[in-house]
Amino acid sequence: MAQDRAAALAEIAAQVRPCTKCELHLSRTRAVPGAGNPNSEIMFIGEGPGYHEDQQGLPFVGRSGDYLVSLLKLIGLTRDQVFITNVVKCRPPGNRDPLPDEILTCKPYLDSQVDIIDPLVIVTLGRFSMARYFPGAKITQIHGKPKYENGRAYYPMFHPAAALRAQALMPQMEADIKRLQEVIAKVKDMRAAGAAPAEAPKDEPPPTQLLLF
Ligand code: SF4
Repeated sequence: MAQDRAAALAEIAAQVRPCTKCELHLSRTRAVPGAGNPNSEIMFIGEGPGYHEDQQGLPFVGRSGDYLVSLLKLIGLTRDQVFITNVVKCRPPGNRDPLPDEILTCKPYLDSQVDIIDPLVIVTLGRFSMARYFPGAKITQIHGKPKYENGRAYYPMFHPAAALRAQALMPQMEADIKRLQEVIAKVKDMRAAGAAPAEAPKDEPPPTQLLLF
């Protein structure tokens, strides 16, 4: 039920905001649990909050957020219609990459959010969320290629910040987001045909080898 999902997500957010389980709490201004529609068919998972997200306590509100919103508009969606979160809920100092132990420590919050929302599609934005579902893969090789598993699609995309840094990626970002509707339709068909409900992913180790994006 919609109310139950909203209440369950609010409970997770209430646990995240005062969380001190990893060292990222020492440098954050505000934790960023995630935001959006509890009943969304699409869940976007990025890497971690940046400066503006840390200031406002909301995900993807800086330039990357504006770009993500413009991509959503291409498929007729607003940010309020999807759910957006990150693999770590607190900003790594100086926007450094989140460390493997920080990702693992924060993982139960993300696992719970996925379980509660039960999205048709999880869109990974950038290498750290991609590694959760596509261990060892390279984003340049697999972006825009869905993996269907247990009645859900996992869909890797470049991080919006990567496309802002390297604008040659923008046409690929646009093509990838436009394919989402087709991916959602396929998952709906799979679920209607009785595919098993999605299961939580296995505990894959976070990436230790840094890739380009
Ligand atoms: S990043 Fe996650 S585990 Fe670490 S302090 Fe923030 S909410 Fe807690």
